[in-house]
Amino acid sequence: MSIRNYKKIVSLSAPAITALGLHHVFDKKYSGRGHILMFHRVLPKDNRPRVHNHESLEIDPEQLEQTILFFKKRNYLFLSINELSDHLKSDTKRKFVVFTFDDGYIDNLIYAYPIFKKYGIPFTIYITSNFINARTVIWWYQLEEELLKKDQLIFTWQNQEHHLAAETKTQKEIAFEEVRKLITGTANPHQYLDQLSKFFGMAEEQLFAYTRSHAMNWDQLTELAKDPIVTIGAHTANHLPLKNLESDQLYAEIINSKIEIEDHIKKKIYHFAYPFGKKLEAGEREYEFVKSHHFRTAVTTNIGNIFTGHLNHLHKLPRVNINSLTTEDVLELQVSGMVSFFINGKDQVLQ
Ligand SMILES: [Zn+2]
Repeated sequence: MSIRNYKKIVSLSAPAITALGLHHVFDKKYSGRGHILMFHRVLPKDNRPRVHNHESLEIDPEQLEQTILFFKKRNYLFLSINELSDHLKSDTKRKFVVFTFDDGYIDNLIYAYPIFKKYGIPFTIYITSNFINARTVIWWYQLEEELLKKDQLIFTWQNQEHHLAAETKTQKEIAFEEVRKLITGTANPHQYLDQLSKFFGMAEEQLFAYTRSHAMNWDQLTELAKDPIVTIGAHTANHLPLKNLESDQLYAEIINSKIEIEDHIKKKIYHFAYPFGKKLEAGEREYEFVKSHHFRTAVTTNIGNIFTGHLNHLHKLPRVNINSLTTEDVLELQVSGMVSFFINGKDQVLQ
């Protein structure tokens, strides 16, 4: 079953499960000490057609506020990512929640920040430095736009010709997956830009202009970073799947990018998020690298709650994904541990 269908099934069955209280079976063993929530974009709803479930990467400001109220009602502690390990070492029983955003989209500043400010709640943004420089490509959104405009894609990728039908919604979804595999499978970051520029039939500068319109700039980020409720984390230079990279490239992507952000915001960075963040894109080599370069924590996009045992795994922390399908009932199942139990089985960090 695809993860997309899985999400739909969870969201359809959630009201019945919570009404019956079935999720409480999981509470004791699988809800853990708390949760790190993962968000990408916050912006007002629009109903244009989408591909690859991209609308689910976006929530509207009202849903963000509802999510905060969900945890307020349940008397959770709102922690910054920096407070996580001390909290796990303490014996407090009170549950915690940490809010995190990936990439550095401008809408985080415009729509999410005022809500956190209103409630005085801390949050973290993991920054892709070349988003802020507008020197990398947000190809997943550009690919979506291509697919919505066209009914077929004809292109050459590393000397091989591809013809992909993209007339129907299903064909567009399949085409997205095919192109995604080609892009994320391209090892060399320089080759990658060149390939993208050929693929989209646009000069690099045009691709970068698209990034410019979606990302914060350095002045905005620096201003935001001054607020004590905000923690800035690192999310690499170019948002590449790290498993593809040689170790010198890994250094450039992770460490040079971290230093560049620190130089701009005049603050040290101690926290990291792996781009794409699933096991296919980040594994033991990357976890060890990040740990040995003195990051205090690092988050993946693997689904799960946080347990005391994560003190030994602070560089591969799972998160709870919040998207437009995350109703209050779905969130109830996620925090109970039921959702991660069905995804990961019993094989979770438990304490
Ligand atoms: Zn990201």
